[in-house]
Order: sequence, then structure tokens, then C-alpha cells
Amino acid sequence: MNKYKLIIFDADGTLRHCTVEGQPCPDAPGEWELMPGVKEMLSRIQWGDPGEGGVGYGIASNQGGVGCGYLSADMAYRLIQELVVAAFGAEPEKGTIQLCPHRPDGGCKCRKPEPLMIQRLIERWGVKPEETLFVGDMETDKEAAERAGVDFKWAGEYFGWEQA
Ligand SMILES: [Mg+2]
Repeated sequence: MNKYKLIIFDADGTLRHCTVEGQPCPDAPGEWELMPGVKEMLSRIQWGDPGEGGVGYGIASNQGGVGCGYLSADMAYRLIQELVVAAFGAEPEKGTIQLCPHRPDGGCKCRKPEPLMIQRLIERWGVKPEETLFVGDMETDKEAAERAGVDFKWAGEYFGWEQA
């Protein structure tokens, strides 16, 4: 299980889902829940500095809603911060949350499938791409992982919602 020194997660559809019908992502507190099995699975891993034998973690999330005006960048960050507390049981360490706040059609350098957020997390923890796993639920996640040179696993497989 400790094959990886860094495990990065997508947020929506991977760690959390929106509880507001017809809305893809939460825009405010109270509009989301953890996906099944997330807390249990993550509690089995010894999170910490890879240099000291732990496993680093990170979130890489496209937050196009910020660019589109559905929520502020501060709110997007706060909701992911609350997600980390709920999922990992601790406040996120500095630099572990990577968000792309740009519009989907903005042509930015960070929105997945661009690999930049994953690369920033690799740099943050000082590990190698081949020591890193990215867990996500979309083709764009898979592509971002490939472009960053890290392993990829579907969230359903990682958390056991579906058979591999
Ligand atoms: Mg997702």
C-alpha cells in the first residue's frame, strides 16, 4: 500500500459530491458530502512527510465555477479546506491544495488535463513523478496524470465503489 510517497486526489466526484440537485459542484458550505468509503480508506494511510516515512497528500481541483462567477476563489479554497479536514481528519498543510480558478474556456496553464497542479504538488513534497499516484474520476484527470508522468487510478476502484 505504501508504494507511493505522494497521493493526489481530485475533489468533485472523487472525495466529495454535491448535495444540491442539478448542481455539479458545491458553491457554499453544507452543499456537499464525502463520497462513500473515503474517510475509512484515507484513515489507513500514514500521512506525513515522505522524507520521514510518511505519505504526502494533495488536492488538484478544477474550480471553473470561480471564473464563471458562481463562487469566490476564497470560498472555493475554504470548501476544499473543509473537505480535507473531513476526509483526512486534519487541517491541510501549506501548499497541499491546488485549485485552478479559471474558466473552462480560458486557455490557462493549470486546468486539468494540464499537468501543472500535479507538478506543483510533486515539487511541494520533493518526490518523483514515479512515486506519485493521482486518483480521479474524469478522463481529464487521467490525462493530467499521464502528462505529469504519475500513476493514475479511478476513484471508484481506489475507494471500492466498483470492481477493478
Ligand atoms: Mg472530479
